[in-house]
Amino acid sequence: MDSTPAGTGPALDFIRARIAEDLAAGRGGSRVATRFPPEPNGYLHIGHAKSICLNFGVAQEFGGTCNLRFDDTNPTKEDVEYVESIEEDVRWLGFEWAGLHFASDYFEQLYDYAVHLIRRGLAYVDSQSAEQIRQRRGTLTEPGTESPFRNRGIEENLDLFSRMRAGEFEDGAHVLRAKIDMASPNINMRDPVLYRIRRAHHHRTGDAWCIYPMYDFAHPPSDALEQITHSLCTLEFEDHRPLYDWLIEHLPVPARPRQIEFARLNLTYTVMSKRRLLELVQEGHVSGWDDPRMPTIVGMRRRGYTPDAIRTFCERIGVAKRENIVDVALLEHAVREDLNLHAPRVMGVLRPLRLVIENYPEGQTEEVSVVNNPEDPSAGSRKVPFSRVLYIERDDFMEDPPKKFFRLAPGREVRLRCAYFITCTGVTKDPASGEVTELRCTYDPATRGGDAPDGRKVKATLHWVSAAHAIAAEVRLYDRLFNAEQPGASGDYRADLNPNSLEVIREAKVEPSLAAAAPGVRVQFERIGYFSVDRDSVAGRPVFNRTVTLKDSWAKIAGRAD
Ligand code: ATP
Ligand code: MG
Repeated sequence: MDSTPAGTGPALDFIRARIAEDLAAGRGGSRVATRFPPEPNGYLHIGHAKSICLNFGVAQEFGGTCNLRFDDTNPTKEDVEYVESIEEDVRWLGFEWAGLHFASDYFEQLYDYAVHLIRRGLAYVDSQSAEQIRQRRGTLTEPGTESPFRNRGIEENLDLFSRMRAGEFEDGAHVLRAKIDMASPNINMRDPVLYRIRRAHHHRTGDAWCIYPMYDFAHPPSDALEQITHSLCTLEFEDHRPLYDWLIEHLPVPARPRQIEFARLNLTYTVMSKRRLLELVQEGHVSGWDDPRMPTIVGMRRRGYTPDAIRTFCERIGVAKRENIVDVALLEHAVREDLNLHAPRVMGVLRPLRLVIENYPEGQTEEVSVVNNPEDPSAGSRKVPFSRVLYIERDDFMEDPPKKFFRLAPGREVRLRCAYFITCTGVTKDPASGEVTELRCTYDPATRGGDAPDGRKVKATLHWVSAAHAIAAEVRLYDRLFNAEQPGASGDYRADLNPNSLEVIREAKVEPSLAAAAPGVRVQFERIGYFSVDRDSVAGRPVFNRTVTLKDSWAKIAGRAD
């Protein structure tokens, strides 16, 4: 793997190498057609994003096509709500499908294919109970036992199967099985079940069917019907490939797709299976599928992650044959990198402390000019009002600072971002609690814009907002949902939930330019982190979600001279 002829570009991963090889050999009609095949039984997560980027990416790179196919063969767990969200998520990630398909669109054809197998003596109706079938399947070391119904005649099988479809039997009374090999070392080849009777309402076919194909039966012919050339799936299907190939071989399908497996994405501090994500929602550990702590696409979107960052992350992790666990910090890094380039800088104070500049004229307001994004000159600048009473971050002041604290303290001078140097001259305290409630300061009018004409230096620059102009905001500080690197590794994953994964600050103060920021807008609160406007915002009271912190933690900032 990872080999490519010299001079043809970067090394290809094993899937792209294999596709290039197939194209060179003229296999699959010298075209590339892939599909992303979610089951609409939950919202997509970052693992699905890996599969989406791979399937759509490969198709783009090789001038091929990629379909979106819903694998909706399991009606009891599926819903149109999920279908709609999946379509939206794929588009949001920046991809457009060539064809939109549903496995349920093929139910009639799949039924005919099953009849075809019966006629060839390659499938039979088994009337054992599910329990009996399970007991006779054998183990990894012992062969299975053939069903007493295995040698039913073709006519009897055809009759029973059509009556299964007609609804003559109870759920579970019969199943249709492939007749392959009960002694196969691969358990998937021991006469796998192809159809079961299940009276369930399907979100698309309604009550038209009371028998439903198994995923393993539906998937290969669905691929073939869509002329898929490369059916990319995760490693747990490796053992199913012989069955995939057997079906393609024995069904009169119009194409011969090939299955290639790759390792699924696992992330530290994250649970990823839809079943667990559903439990987190249903048990109320999160506010919903789009809770910003969820690894779902909707959750990451609400948190402020960008599609570009997610695609970059998927590119960087690549695809491999072996399972591993990717550090979630890599995903956060990609998000931070993208936001650094594109998110405007603004000033917001999470825990406000009042500061009065006693020598600044009462009732005066001036506007200072602030660059919107030093990384992006085209982003321009804006005016921010400055006045006598400001708010600064409570953490940026210490009455009795330790040696390494360089920010504001009594008698000390610091810079206010893009404004003036100020010196703290005194504090006011709450007599009961002793807590500092207000700082008294003076400013040096000669330092307007942030530099002293005499060249004197200060060791810190603080962000601030003008008290009279500030907007009150709610800020939601999200942290990892789990404390453990591998949630559930030593028991129930719920025991690893981080009890402090959300801190809500109700009385933050942000600069007035944010009063009307629309949901989804992403900004950097200078010195604090990246935030995005939540959909819970109401006019005049925005709600911000912390997307990701800046590289420097607060502890580091404490010692930083900027
Ligand atoms: P889960 O195991 O989370 O419930 P799933 O595999 O059942 O997911 P599907 O809807 O069947 O979810 O998945 C659609 C496609 O996404 C499949 O091809 C599947 O292999 C792929 N996929 C799912 N999870 C991951 C993952 N963590 N990493 C990479 N691909 C994934
Ligand atoms: Mg699946």
